[in-house]
Amino acid sequence: ARKSHSPVKRRRKAQRLCVAYEGSDSEKGVKAEPLKVPVWEPQDWQQQLVNIRAMRSKKDAPVDHLGVEHCYDSSAPPKVRRYQVLLSLMLSSQTKDQVTAGAMQRLRAQGLTVDGILQTDDATLGKLIYPVGFWRSKVKYIKQTSTILQQRYGGDIPASVAELVALPGVGPKMAHLAMAVAWGTVSGIAVDTHVHRIANRLRWTKKATKSPEETRAALEEWLPRELWHEINGLLVGFGQQTCLPVRPRCQACLNQALCPAAQGL
Ligand code: SF4
Repeated sequence: ARKSHSPVKRRRKAQRLCVAYEGSDSEKGVKAEPLKVPVWEPQDWQQQLVNIRAMRSKKDAPVDHLGVEHCYDSSAPPKVRRYQVLLSLMLSSQTKDQVTAGAMQRLRAQGLTVDGILQTDDATLGKLIYPVGFWRSKVKYIKQTSTILQQRYGGDIPASVAELVALPGVGPKMAHLAMAVAWGTVSGIAVDTHVHRIANRLRWTKKATKSPEETRAALEEWLPRELWHEINGLLVGFGQQTCLPVRPRCQACLNQALCPAAQGL
């Protein structure tokens, strides 16, 4: 993949000038009309998004029927549903959707509640969640997090990203997805390895980013807020079916002509 983001450089200069001007307004406390800073946005992103939506229109990727929205018991009380959402997110890191869904099914068959998990010994819990990635660490984190939820949150999950990421084994992507799915609040873009990879291939970040967290911040700078929730499921499924980590199916991709990473892959 090419490294330079050349089309962006010209616009970056313009932005720097505007930032300096903004600062002088606020220094003096002068009331001025808010400055319209030209927000950087990637070339062709709207058409690329339309194309991805078209490629995803069948909604037949693993994430569409096995993702977090499909792993909890929708007939359970709200508190239990939210706990199950968080648990499925904790299980999902470094794990295929199919494997997470299987583990959730086995856990739910035992009655998946905070109390139920705290009464389950570690060896049994390990057997139930195996073979999710890092299952040994996840047994420990699930127990620690469940204890905190019981002691501090009355068995519910917290309703802020800051409190969620403070729980053992809960990262920013999980926290943003938990906010969206469990609480119905869009708090940020949930960026996993698929979103991170595709955003960089399509040059949806001003410069190449090294981590999902960096990508999240870079996307939130320009992507309209009303798309923040949609983008996760859209790109995860696209990454599972077409823009694969290794040998992406560029020949079958509607973005081939618009994608800076298409050649040479
Ligand atoms: S052209 Fe290839 S690398 Fe670019 S978005 Fe499509 S599948 Fe991914």
